[in-house]
This record gives sequence, structure tokens and C-alpha cells, in this order.
Amino acid sequence: MYLSLEDFQALGVDDTYKNHSIGGKCSGCGECCVDMLPATIDEIHRIKEYVQKHHIREHRQAPFFDPKATDFSCPFRNQQERKCEVYPARLYICRTFVCNKTREDAIRDRDLIHRDRKIYSLRFEVFGNPETLGLVAAIAVSKSKRALPWR
Ligand code: SF4
Ligand code: SF4
Repeated sequence: MYLSLEDFQALGVDDTYKNHSIGGKCSGCGECCVDMLPATIDEIHRIKEYVQKHHIREHRQAPFFDPKATDFSCPFRNQQERKCEVYPARLYICRTFVCNKTREDAIRDRDLIHRDRKIYSLRFEVFGNPETLGLVAAIAVSKSKRALPWR
């Protein structure tokens, strides 16, 4: 189940981002490790196989004041140990993205990566957890008064 970049942008999501790099290099902070990311179906299958083989559990970073709040973080981000639990099987975007680009370069890279990728919820695809999808769908209805064209 996925969205196109155009469907996602129709939500009015702000696609600007903060630069968390240090000295132009990734600091490993995990701020860009979010649940909904561009991927191919082959990349999703690769991560699923890796998760099953290594018995990786779903990680959560819901706010401490509300454990039931929607968690937009990537389910593979181990924030305590500051590491990616699926590092060898991570997505192409995870291998290539660094938040140190100019806005123009970031938009060019985004458009390139979305040419043959769609936006998936990793929580849903790998763990069957629909919480992010549910909130995104609710935002779509509240903003545009229509359901999202999930594919
Ligand atoms: S690329 Fe991601 S993990 Fe690296 S510094 Fe930027 S936000 Fe943090
Ligand atoms: S798969 Fe790993 S690198 Fe990619 S967003 Fe998730 S935690 Fe970050």
C-alpha cells in the first residue's frame, strides 16, 4: 500500500528540513529516520526478510507524555543505541541521503529518487501497524475533504 509523491505533496506536507550534519557529514542523529519513505517493492521485501531472519522488533519513539500518540519515526531506529537495526538491508534513500544539501539540490535529488519509487509506511509493510497510514488518511480528509488514493 503506497502513495505517489504527488499524493503526498497534496497533503501540504512541508518538505523542507533542518541541517543536522556536523562539518557537512551525517551526525547519525536519526532525525531523518521517519516511517514513510520512498522505496521500491524489492527494497521492502529485502527489509522484511532481514527483519524475519534477525528477529528484529518494532521500535517506538512516541512522546513520553502520550504513549498512544502516532509515531512517525522509522520502526528500525534504535534511538537508545543511536543505530539502524536493518543497516545492511536499509533503503537506497537511507544509503544516500544527507541533510547538508542546498534546497535546490535536495529537490533535484528527491525528484530523481521518486522516479522509480513510491512512498511506503515501513511500520505497516513490515509489522502490519497502520497507525501512520491512519493519521495521514485523516489529515487528507480534513484538508481536502477526500480520501487518499492509496494504491
Ligand atoms: S542525514 Fe539524518 S541522521 Fe544524518 S545528520 Fe542529517 S538528519 Fe541526522
Ligand atoms: S531504515 Fe535505518 S537508516 Fe533508514 S530510516 Fe530507518 S533507521 Fe534510518
